Amino acid sequence: MSEDLQQLTELQLYALRGRLAAGVHDPHLTLRGALHQDMRQCSNERCRCRSGELHGPYTYLSVYGEGRSRTLYVPQAVAAVAAEHVEATRRGEAVMVEISQVNLELLRRRALR
Ligand SMILES: [Zn+2]
Repeated sequence: MSEDLQQLTELQLYALRGRLAAGVHDPHLTLRGALHQDMRQCSNERCRCRSGELHGPYTYLSVYGEGRSRTLYVPQAVAAVAAEHVEATRRGEAVMVEISQVNLELLRRRALR
């Protein structure tokens, strides 16, 4: 992408930046992390899960931050909404990486504003 940016005029770079910025997700939807599903054993030692019939699948969100990760259980009632938030955040952050590349090109030309 950065090689393509070098072919654009400054006006084209500003216009591209504007189009990209319009696609950044609504900040209200920000939820950083990775969703995954897992099967679990319960604490009842006589339960069928002890012979391999595990419970689930359950949804979990792995969150990375401050040099560590933690995993939260995501209740079924909000799993779909959480998935929308995570996906909007992933797409939005990818767009912001592209905007940063445009701004780097503008900076290189001393045209950053
Ligand atoms: Zn069980």
